[in-house]
Amino acid sequence: MSQINVTRSSMPEYKEYCEEIKELWESRWLTNNGKKHNQLENELERYFNTENVTLFVNGHLALEIALASLKLKGEVITTPFTFASTTQAIVHSGLTPVFCDINDIDYTIDTDKIENLITEKTCAIMPVHVYANICDTEKIQKIADKYKLKVIYDAAHAFGVTKDNISVACFGDISMFSFHATKVFNTIEGGALAYKDSNLKESLNIFKNFGQQGEDITEIAVNAKMNEFAAAMGICNLRHIDGEIEKRKKVVEHYRRLLSNVQGIKLCPEQKGIKSNYAYFPVVFDGYKYNRDEIIEKLGRENIFARKYFYPCTNEFSAYKDLFKIQDTPVAKYIAQRVLTLPLYADLSIEDAERICNIILK
Ligand SMILES: *Cc1c(COP(=O)(O)O)cnc(C)c1O
Repeated sequence: MSQINVTRSSMPEYKEYCEEIKELWESRWLTNNGKKHNQLENELERYFNTENVTLFVNGHLALEIALASLKLKGEVITTPFTFASTTQAIVHSGLTPVFCDINDIDYTIDTDKIENLITEKTCAIMPVHVYANICDTEKIQKIADKYKLKVIYDAAHAFGVTKDNISVACFGDISMFSFHATKVFNTIEGGALAYKDSNLKESLNIFKNFGQQGEDITEIAVNAKMNEFAAAMGICNLRHIDGEIEKRKKVVEHYRRLLSNVQGIKLCPEQKGIKSNYAYFPVVFDGYKYNRDEIIEKLGRENIFARKYFYPCTNEFSAYKDLFKIQDTPVAKYIAQRVLTLPLYADLSIEDAERICNIILK
């Protein structure tokens, strides 16, 4: 029996990709603002319906450069129920994460708990659209305006999602998207920032290219440029993205139908006004006949590998021990101990989705 992993990368037909990269053998222009890079940047601005998109080698460095370009110092309010990257970007940038708990409906930041965490050192809020569940962006913006804080969304999961027909790329000051192989849209590895202030464009381009401006180095910075082969993969994948999301939707509909209204199994409700990208399917086992770890074992015996996204919470990482005061986040901790994300990708067959549900329910 073939193995089913939690995700499987979307790819164009082999021929389509070959056609896309062919001209690179003539131009010999492989990176540094190449033609493919600039084309993908423009196409994403159109796709997001935003004015400003800048590409990066990966989502993580995009996030770090977002923080650097805004010249932030001090504390950043964020959540620990996320991939390591969110918190690592803050800490690696010399900022202090202040952990806000999540709500127990969609697992995004609990906006009722943000204001209590604001101090004179707070400079920004970095919420996460976790599983492509969209944060309460209005409430967050209200708080940010009141206290003059920047808002940087970790939108790594939320490619192509809209809220009341507005792209999520339009919320906050900056949103980061990851184009890692495992994400809904991939450039093999890659990422992007979408942002409001057009003046940031020049600065972001400097920050992703060693801080170089002409002959001088004007910023302390890294190398985070996207190469032409990655951009070409993005151009191809973007042609098929709507179809891929549609196929994911079919899988999710089956999961929802088979796992809804089961005692002890909790699903995230569909969010009102949100057009989803069906990035993940988290299931919380709370009082079910098997606990989360027993379900992992049952699936594993059938060669099916679901993942504990996200366990442990980032505020439990030993790397941060003794570095700063770590806030307790009981809801995040509770969910992290019980959540499992089921296999979900465009090419997952309906038969396999049903088989996975049957193993869980048996
Ligand atoms: C994938 C991911 C990132 C990092 O993206 P990379 O492109 O892999 O560097 C950041 N945040 C979250 C929530 C992610 O899932």
